[in-house]
Amino acid sequence: MKSIKIKRGLATASLGVLALLSATGQAQAGKAKADTVVHSGKIYTGVDKEPWVEAVAIRDGVVVAAGKSGKMLKRAATDATLIDLGGRMAMAGIIDAHSHPVDGAVMKLFECTFPFSATPDEIAAAVTACVAGAGDEPWIAGGQWDSNFFVNNKIASPRKFLDKVSGGKAVGLVDDSGHNAWLNTKALKLVGITAQTPDPAGGRIGREADGKTPNGVLEETAATIASPFLTAHTPEQFAAAVEEMQVMLNGLGITAVKIANMPDEHLEAVALADADGDLRLHVTTSLATHYGARSEKLDVAGLISKRDQYKTANVNTNAVKIFLDGVPTAARTAGMLAPYAPDSHFPDGYLGEMHLTEELLAADMTALDAAGFAVKIHTAGDGSVRRALNAIEVARKANGMGGKQHELAHAGYVDPADIARFKALNVAPDFSPFIWSPSPIIDSVVQAVGPRGEHYWPTKDLIESGAVIVAGSDWPSAVSSPSPWPGIETLVTRRAADGDYDGALWPEEAVSLEDAIEIYTENSATALDVENVTGRIEKGAIADIIVLSQNIFDVDPAKISDTEVVLTLFKGKVVSAKGPFEALTAGK
Ligand SMILES: [Zn+2]
Repeated sequence: MKSIKIKRGLATASLGVLALLSATGQAQAGKAKADTVVHSGKIYTGVDKEPWVEAVAIRDGVVVAAGKSGKMLKRAATDATLIDLGGRMAMAGIIDAHSHPVDGAVMKLFECTFPFSATPDEIAAAVTACVAGAGDEPWIAGGQWDSNFFVNNKIASPRKFLDKVSGGKAVGLVDDSGHNAWLNTKALKLVGITAQTPDPAGGRIGREADGKTPNGVLEETAATIASPFLTAHTPEQFAAAVEEMQVMLNGLGITAVKIANMPDEHLEAVALADADGDLRLHVTTSLATHYGARSEKLDVAGLISKRDQYKTANVNTNAVKIFLDGVPTAARTAGMLAPYAPDSHFPDGYLGEMHLTEELLAADMTALDAAGFAVKIHTAGDGSVRRALNAIEVARKANGMGGKQHELAHAGYVDPADIARFKALNVAPDFSPFIWSPSPIIDSVVQAVGPRGEHYWPTKDLIESGAVIVAGSDWPSAVSSPSPWPGIETLVTRRAADGDYDGALWPEEAVSLEDAIEIYTENSATALDVENVTGRIEKGAIADIIVLSQNIFDVDPAKISDTEVVLTLFKGKVVSAKGPFEALTAGK
């Protein structure tokens, strides 16, 4: 794939790390003394010329040399921190190019949660327990029910089902995709949805047998009517969520994250954490735009001022998120080129729905690209992928190829004719491999899409075309954890990472472990615009280094998801340490 040379000057400029030699005479024979040496390990560098080294010498958070342990230890200053890896595998920190970790942490800390596999009885029990523990709180938000829940469980009135366990409180629960919501009667009343409320464009209000009374299920843009209530939290809660997010991500080996769809409250919380010196992640934020059908052009000037307002040393706000469609599950809200499998709830030849016309998207893309934004477009169907590529082509023709790389998120369905266009237009497919791990959501997708449903996520075809695939967890959408390890395993095996589901999804598209690591490190760095400073271990790179509980090159690929990260260095400092390294926990 793409070979990227780390540029030391940029590291200094963009992330404020002083990598240059001090003029104090410490630098004997022109070589800076290292303040930290990680040694006696099997360190995967991601650099073709020298993929494995034993040791890394670090100074002021930047890699100054990598090679044999003896040689690197000789570079240590007398008071240097020496970290003996004891033969363990280490590699560059994981870069998650698509996640919603503030939402995930808020949900974990403050909401009513149950597993995706929860049955109606289990959901009733979970809500009962949350109601009992909620005190005076009038509103209970939580989730996440599986996308096929109402297909597999015939519930006459979903709202009345919740009413029985709500104890007089308003209850709203989101599904595993985050696109659909389930409200009880009190919650419907609170958000103002009645029998007279029409379905919003790009969404549906589920109705009871009379065809009018809302049944409590809100799909796509209808669910956004409830989101101000579902997502309401205090600034203190968001601050706590940012801290929780960092502990979780650092603990899983993630040192950089692109937060895909950032509302203002989250921007505020992340910017405050960075201003306080509390950020232990490189963060790139995709500024949120209107969700759902839109006929007006985006307010690009407004996005530019938001970019300026929230940018901090470690937070890159130069990115925007646009939703073009929904999800190709039973809800059939992704835009497709060929009809979904027939279903009595949908007209014959149904192609799903897209939120924007090609002309409007092209106008938005041209303006955003000219303003220097990297745009992530949510495209879950092959129809929306085509429309987005067409719009980007218009933007590239107008502005030239000098703009940022753009991304198509969840581009799992790609018509063969569009594969080569990713590289040609400098567009990265943004994959969520953990999600395709065979599971209820995949069953729902394959059933809904019909005969070509299994031709999902053409990883190998895209790599062979020269496209730079980036990847993320998309947590808390569809996955229960932001862990990258099930995703890395699934790229290699195309099987369920937890072993709970049988079968492989389009196994011909499996890739090598080297490719999978590249996707999760240096490739994903391009989506955060940090490819010149992190994603590989080599001289001049920021020392974002993780140490693993097992050498993933030596284990059965089906065991990659069991990997634990026992040590995480962010800019050369220990930010997470477990097991054999517990004594190193130095705090932030
Ligand atoms: Zn997402």
